[in-house]
Amino acid sequence: MKEKLYLEETAKSLYAGKSPEEILADILGEKYIKYRKRWHNAQQFKIRPLFPIHLDFELAYRCNLKCIMCPHGDPKFKHPYMGKKLDTEMIKKILKGGVQQGLSSVRFSVLNEPLLEKSLVDLIRYAKDIGIIDIFITTNGMLLSEQKSYELIHAGLTHLMVSLDAATPETYSIIRKGGNYKKVVKNIENFLKVRAETGSRLPLLRLSFTKMKPNVHEVEKFVKMWVDKVDYIAIAGYLNNLDDSEVNKRLRVSRTIKGKFNCWQPWARCTIFVNGDVFPCCMNYGRYTPIGNIYKERLIDIWQSDKVKFIQDINKAGKCFKHPTCLKCVSSRDKFGG
Ligand code: SF4
Ligand code: SF4
Repeated sequence: MKEKLYLEETAKSLYAGKSPEEILADILGEKYIKYRKRWHNAQQFKIRPLFPIHLDFELAYRCNLKCIMCPHGDPKFKHPYMGKKLDTEMIKKILKGGVQQGLSSVRFSVLNEPLLEKSLVDLIRYAKDIGIIDIFITTNGMLLSEQKSYELIHAGLTHLMVSLDAATPETYSIIRKGGNYKKVVKNIENFLKVRAETGSRLPLLRLSFTKMKPNVHEVEKFVKMWVDKVDYIAIAGYLNNLDDSEVNKRLRVSRTIKGKFNCWQPWARCTIFVNGDVFPCCMNYGRYTPIGNIYKERLIDIWQSDKVKFIQDINKAGKCFKHPTCLKCVSSRDKFGG
């Protein structure tokens, strides 16, 4: 088993054989290699792209689970966005315009279960057809039927990221409330079978495990169970998404923020939340301090605004404490990360 640190500072990825990036470079060739070069250059603050290289779209605000680490699972949490959906035609318009400006990668999930959305497969197909190179979804896997697997493969998805967080049904049931461990495991195995039958190497399958107190003892077992079956495994530290909850109160922001932290995210990616609000990274917190809204302004104008430049510059300089959202985010990494 080969073990490497891969891309995200918060997630350690493990894989048997080639890395996802190496596999995709083999399959997709020069255009993929070029896009990854731009991505790595943005991560190192060497280029300031004129348009995000990657976009996350929150297609709707709903989920079929109530996980303990998620606002969807917090009974005290108020959900002002419940029931809202992003306009599909607006998404397509942004994708089409974005491709001309260097948009190369897209994910159709934020704080939502994408397999609940009827528009998903059509959007993946559309993104692929207009030239988006890398197309992701993150799912809890409950609705990953054989039929859905087949549709995702044929639509052109490149990364299927399934969050499991456990190596036993007992631990799973503590964390992923409303889910069914055995069903998700079966769905993952069926997906691999369908993919093999189609002869496709894509989408690559990432299995995720977010370390928390109830599951941390199962990391090793989880890795052993899956590393030779899926394309890669991501073991991530917990980043607190429960804004204004008791969990956040325990963060002690002023104590935990120490030293420099250079966040590359606002240099490469941007999230469009379900109500059209925009923030230049993938953190859920960003929805509370939007820097614009796609129904009021063009995304390119939002991205090139002074607000984004400010967030980019403070993060390059390691002064994230100058923005309340970044401060909260970095503090949660110190407290729960690793
Ligand atoms: S599956 Fe994802 S979005 Fe749904 S409740 Fe769990 S963590 Fe939240
Ligand atoms: S909130 Fe700030 S520090 Fe956190 S990921 Fe986003 S841009 Fe980076």
